[in-house]
Amino acid sequence: MSKGFVLILSGPSGSGKDTVINELLKKDPDTMVSISMTTRKPRPGEVDGVHYYFVTKDAFEKAIRDGEMLEYARYGDNYYGTPRGPLRAWTEAGKTVILKIEVQGAAKVKEQNPDIMMLFLMPPSIYALRKRLAGRNTESAEEIEERISIAKKEIVGSYAYDYIIVNDRVEDAVNHILDLIRRHRRLLDTGAEAG
Ligand code: 5GP
Repeated sequence: MSKGFVLILSGPSGSGKDTVINELLKKDPDTMVSISMTTRKPRPGEVDGVHYYFVTKDAFEKAIRDGEMLEYARYGDNYYGTPRGPLRAWTEAGKTVILKIEVQGAAKVKEQNPDIMMLFLMPPSIYALRKRLAGRNTESAEEIEERISIAKKEIVGSYAYDYIIVNDRVEDAVNHILDLIRRHRRLLDTGAEAG
């Protein structure tokens, strides 16, 4: 059994993280994704306990107070965070656990555990990002502009990541990430310096 590890996947809203993660889960049985908690409302088709744990602001703040969150951040008007939950058990069972989180949360997790791998999914352009956000029809024009403005700041923060993957063709991005995951597993298994 290979050693497990945490893989952070960040990238602006609309950069295609969900599509990429779904493909990774299909192609690699040792990869799984951590389910975050959020106070934002579910989008059509999103299921509680599958896409997120959708909770109230009070419940989220209680989870913070009770020390249940590995990290959390405010994004727009909402909280998003990673429950500590079974993360450690999963990595000990040899799994690659993906945290799909934004850059502030990513920095906090990296501080606590420098061995994790951090990937930033980069949209081919801001133009492509705006087109994708508008095309999915889930945010208002104002929310789209807010997400674009957050995206520009996130892109500035991408220098802190181990790898930047441009998501032009999903298949290429997925294959590139799979290569990196397998390489990281080999490095952990041989005890060599990961990177
Ligand atoms: P969305 O509303 O599009 O699902 O997510 C908005 C942003 O929140 C995305 O950048 C997503 O990666 C980030 N996010 C989702 N879950 C978490 C989490 O548990 N922690 C942090 N810090 N960010 C998260």
